[in-house]
Amino acid sequence: SKRWGKAKAILKEFEEKCATPTWKLKQVADAMAVEMQAGLASEGGSKLKMLISFVDNLPTGNEEGLFYALDLGGTNFRVLRVQLGGKENGVISQEFTEVSIPPNLMVGTSKELFDFIAAELVKFVKEEKEDFQVPPGGKRQLGFTFSFPVMQTSISSGNLIRWTKGFSIEDTVGQDVVAELRNAIERQGLDMHITALVNDTVGTLAGGRYTNKDVFAAVILGTGTNAAYVENAQAIPKWHGDLPESGEMVINMEWGNFRSSHLPLTEYDTALDAESLNPGEQIFEKIISGMYLGEIVRRVLLKMAEEAWFFGETVPSKLKVPFVLRTPDMSAMHHDSSADLNVVKTKLTNILEISDTSLQVRKVIVELCNIVATRGARLAAAGILGILKKLGKDTTVSDGQKNVIAMDGGLYEHYTEYSKCLENTINELVGEDVSGSIVVEHSNDGSGIGAALLAASHSC
Ligand code: ADP
Ligand code: MG
Repeated sequence: SKRWGKAKAILKEFEEKCATPTWKLKQVADAMAVEMQAGLASEGGSKLKMLISFVDNLPTGNEEGLFYALDLGGTNFRVLRVQLGGKENGVISQEFTEVSIPPNLMVGTSKELFDFIAAELVKFVKEEKEDFQVPPGGKRQLGFTFSFPVMQTSISSGNLIRWTKGFSIEDTVGQDVVAELRNAIERQGLDMHITALVNDTVGTLAGGRYTNKDVFAAVILGTGTNAAYVENAQAIPKWHGDLPESGEMVINMEWGNFRSSHLPLTEYDTALDAESLNPGEQIFEKIISGMYLGEIVRRVLLKMAEEAWFFGETVPSKLKVPFVLRTPDMSAMHHDSSADLNVVKTKLTNILEISDTSLQVRKVIVELCNIVATRGARLAAAGILGILKKLGKDTTVSDGQKNVIAMDGGLYEHYTEYSKCLENTINELVGEDVSGSIVVEHSNDGSGIGAALLAASHSC
């Protein structure tokens, strides 16, 4: 029918605009490498902030003692404690808890948010048993993983540049987030020292390095996205301090804010951005990360409903609600392997209140999920190629050398079609000769452990 033809035309046009042929991904990677260089050259030299993490030593395995970590990064935060036993014994015991952040606290005041976090931390500390040993003097040490852009002023202090991923708390911007946390901890009457402030990518890199010395970069694909890597300290013109003894410095790229004319952007992305909490910012993040993929699918479906009566003569009202279709639901539909696409049917009924869909319609929806996920995963791979290029690891490999990327985040972990596509695309981009040396390693909650490890190596 005419309606069906129109719906297919909308889908086809979207697919064409989302196309990511190899040559285009290489342009994106080149642009990423150029922006990395510019961001390292001068403060404000690029959309890529290329933040200096003050981490110039990664874990060695010799770390010993009891350490805490607190990971604030998105919808949930985690608190963990780990007892480290040095070279011989490694991680002796480890415990964690996860708490979801009440949505009202994500847009409230700084004090409310940090008081809530500190209160949960206190609850967790109170449950500490004998297999965790408080050091003589009784002062507990904490590594604070904070996954938002921070201008670090030392290993244990840094000012918030801006919120991302749905957080918007005016009075935290420009403040030292360690001081905010320290004050809240003091208000709770807890005696704990914050020894390291790290981004989750930096924590993941540290956690990855603890178990594998070939880890040189970390990438997070969760609610948002970001990457960190080990840079040669002499290749950072904007660093005016003493050169670290190790000769290395971990850089937090804040790659979510990358943008380039080579990115395949559509009208849906432009509208999503314009209506977001942070218009004009985090463009790369808005096409590849978990917070947004489902929302892009919703926007295309809405257009098909409005202009091609894709779901019948009325536009389903639920379909007009921003962010109603979450990425985990999109991923469940995409992975639906049943012959009659039962999962798609159920999701449409439960989330969008659309019943009686034909198999033909459900197939189009799976196809749409595939287009959005494929674009995201292939662009994430292009970003990784950008890092490899910057370090000269994209063409040459010495015998037996492995270059390992520690990867984490709910999107990477649970969206199999996405992560498969990401890994295939890395191999496609670097080619056969190099692909054997590139290893993508899932670092399960490496950022929390990593922050505890960095708290250990930076405690005095
Ligand atoms: P955060 O990024 O908030 O620190 P996570 O790394 O746990 O947290 O990632 C959570 C995000 O991962 C969710 O916002 C969602 O976008 C994505 N996600 C979680 N489960 C799935 C799933 N089953 N399929 C696809 N994406 C998922
Ligand atoms: Mg996280």
